[in-house]
Order: sequence, then structure tokens, then C-alpha cells
Amino acid sequence: MISKIEDLSKLCVHTLTTRPWNLEECVKNYAAAGIHGITIWRNVLENQNLQEARKLLDGYQMQVVSLARGGFFPSVDKRKREAAIEDNLWAIEQAAAVGAPSIVLVCGADGGQSLEKSREQIAEGIVKILPAAREAGVKLSIEPLHPMYAGDRSAINTLCQANDMAERFNSEWVGVAVDVYHLWWDPTLRTEIQRCAANNHLFAFHVCDWNVPTTDFLNDRGLMGDGCINVPEIRSWVEETGFSGYNEVEIFSDKYWATDQKMYLEKIKNAYLNNT
Ligand code: ZN
Repeated sequence: MISKIEDLSKLCVHTLTTRPWNLEECVKNYAAAGIHGITIWRNVLENQNLQEARKLLDGYQMQVVSLARGGFFPSVDKRKREAAIEDNLWAIEQAAAVGAPSIVLVCGADGGQSLEKSREQIAEGIVKILPAAREAGVKLSIEPLHPMYAGDRSAINTLCQANDMAERFNSEWVGVAVDVYHLWWDPTLRTEIQRCAANNHLFAFHVCDWNVPTTDFLNDRGLMGDGCINVPEIRSWVEETGFSGYNEVEIFSDKYWATDQKMYLEKIKNAYLNNT
């Protein structure tokens, strides 16, 4: 039997997937495992000299795929909306400093107002940070979140809504991140992926799985193959559009975080090669 050739060239791991590791541990262990795509969550940049982080990443030939995350624009409180703009401007600086070509936007929602109002505030927020993003050469990827998060994390819950928002801006700097966890259930997914790509708005592709049953709706994501999402099919829809970016493994899992992270990284590679 011919063994499957290990092609990890399009595999990216989010640092939060291996949450027990700091940035240096992520970089060294991913590189040792043959993984050179990394999406950096901002928690690992806290108290971190950004130039040194850049040096570390370059030293291990790591390709920074994205910075996670910006967004959280809506609030009934004007001061909080202003603070969110400041935070997003800082995220853009961080992204530029570590060589991230894009930022994932978890757009936000405030349960004290309507979803329409929150979406308006999301649009206003993007308007305010877009000049800085363009200046820094950092793209903004709107990530639609599963409707279960509509009350507090994102008023953008379908790929259709994310496409609508990106099309309002008609900018090469504003696009969309497609995450199978949030979108797998949507019967219009394939056509919305096609629409997204046709407008050059398909910036990122995130993979994991939906456990059945799910015990926690934040930190019980599965490894590809653990649950009910047909990840290879969705990946084929993404790639049939000509998308040639990374497959970003983004798994929040109390279960896997409690295990040996090096062994877990091997499981991630196997799940990527066999079930993605
Ligand atoms: Zn995601």
C-alpha cells in the first residue's frame, strides 16, 4: 500500500487551538511538526515585544495567515463603541508588526438593541478602521458566527449577511472568513461561497467539527472527523472557486486542551490529512 503523501503546505493552526502553549511554544512545535501556517490570537501577543515575535516567526519560516481577532463594534454605550475602534486600530498595528496580511473580525452584538442596529454599528466601525487597514496593508475578514451567538458575539450570522456587508464596502480590503463550525447547516452555503469568491471576498477558511451532542457551545468544538460536518465537501466548494489559501484549524476544546499538546498536534495533522 502506498502511504498518503503528507501535504501540509496548506495547513494553518490557530494558536488558540493549542491554548496551553505561548507563542514561542506554538511556533517551535508547529514548525517541528512540519506546519508553517499560523493564525495568531492576540492573547499570545500580550506582554510580547512585537519585533521579537516577528523575528521568532521568521526564524522558523512561519507564514502568518491572520491575526485573531478584531471587531466587537456594537454597543448601546457610545464610549464602548469608541473603545472598540481604538482596540481595532491597535489590532491593525499588531497585525502589520507580525506580518499578518489580515484580521478576523468577530463583529459583535449587543443584546440591548436590535440586530439591525448592531449591524449598522458594525458597518460604522468598519468605516472608521478601513483607512488604517488600507494604510497598513491589512485586510479585514468579516466572520459570520452561528446564530446561537447573535445575542452577544455577532449580529452577522449567515454567509449571506457577511457577503451583503462586504459588498457594501466594495473594497479589496474588506472580505469574509468562512468557518465550517458557524455555517455548515446553511442550505445556501455553496451558492453563498460562490458569490463570495466571485466578488473576491473569500479571504479565509476555518475548519473544525460540530460534536454530537455538543456539551459546551463555546469550548466543545471537535477535530475534523469527530462530528457531523462534512468538512471535505465544504472544502471542495471553497476550492472549486479557485481559493488557494490555507485551511485554518480553529478548535476551542476544553477536552483537547487538557491533553498533551504535542500528541494533540499529531491528531490535528491526521485529521487534516484524512478528514478535511
Ligand atoms: Zn473561525
